[in-house]
Amino acid sequence: MSHNSSFLSPPEPITVNQAVEFLHQDNSNEISNWKRSAQSIALNTHQRQITFTTNVFIPLTFLCRNACHYCGFRRSKVPIGQEFLNSQKVEKILTTVRDRKVSEVLITMGDKPEKKYPLAEKWLKKHGFDSTIEYSYFIAEKALKYELLPHINGGTLTFDELRYLREVSASIGMMLETISSRLTHSGLPHEQSPDKHPKNRIATINNAGRLKIPFTSGILIGIGETLEEIVESLFALKNVHQKYRHLQEVIIQNFQPNPDSVMANSPPPSIELMEKILIIARHILPAEISIQIPPNLVESHEHRFIEAGMSDWGGISSITLDYINPDHRWPSITKLEQITQKAGYQLCERLPVYPRYINLEWLSPQVYKLASVKRLDSRTVK
Ligand code: SF4
Repeated sequence: MSHNSSFLSPPEPITVNQAVEFLHQDNSNEISNWKRSAQSIALNTHQRQITFTTNVFIPLTFLCRNACHYCGFRRSKVPIGQEFLNSQKVEKILTTVRDRKVSEVLITMGDKPEKKYPLAEKWLKKHGFDSTIEYSYFIAEKALKYELLPHINGGTLTFDELRYLREVSASIGMMLETISSRLTHSGLPHEQSPDKHPKNRIATINNAGRLKIPFTSGILIGIGETLEEIVESLFALKNVHQKYRHLQEVIIQNFQPNPDSVMANSPPPSIELMEKILIIARHILPAEISIQIPPNLVESHEHRFIEAGMSDWGGISSITLDYINPDHRWPSITKLEQITQKAGYQLCERLPVYPRYINLEWLSPQVYKLASVKRLDSRTVK
């Protein structure tokens, strides 16, 4: 490691070449040095706290105009009339969670299904909506009435769509996944996914910054990208954040083979590689960005990630499934607390919008009002 290895102060910014060199590194002493450095960067900013948010997952539609080879969420056929989760069913979920101290409503959907499926378009029209985005606004508005804060995952969004959703969102999310346009080539996982073209995704993240929207993004590991491309993806996120300071968290997610997908037989990335990627991400990304590792995808290795500089477990639901990786159940909050404490850290609840963004510069008046009431930034789980 060419860095200062005392780690008493955060190391200087690293270059693309240093980061790539590290990911190719297999000397365990070197890796340990970098790991201590990553932990020290995280401790300086996030202290010995690992955050999470209590959420409820609302899958608005499983139809999607893309067809990513690894996807376990998308369905190409659904019973007629069930193209979207109707508002009565959404209300039922919202009523169930209202008194359960849930703070986040995670509104997820396939990308623009109405552009591919006439029945999806028909459903929307019949219910008075021109697009999936319009329907998600309606559902988010409903969630606010139930005093729940919406986090919308609407895929790639235009400037105008982002501005529209900002009115009803505590934060918006979209994984960059990868900066590599190579993966859109024939035979590769994004060949049939126009919304996964990195240009479109970076444009969405940039526009969210211009609009001052607290944003969550991330990278997906193990879908055929090279180590160089992983580093380039992290630098792309760093660069856009440095312009707008709007990335509240970056998720580092390991691909999991989903049985009904094209990549059902592809192996997931190793825990060792995931740990190295977290270490290098903590060195590349500005320290104020929280790094999230989904606990249900690294089960029984959680402590390694805590020690390597992660600071957030993401949304945990005791009510709904992780619809993206349905075979991987979320741990209970009690179990998460035990794991976190065993590593010498404290589990802290947060809202879907991080404390530094709870003001009128970053939130619409109605969302700000609710977020201020629900503000939990120093509340810890007992
Ligand atoms: S991963 Fe997302 S964009 Fe890709 S097919 Fe699945 S739902 Fe659609």
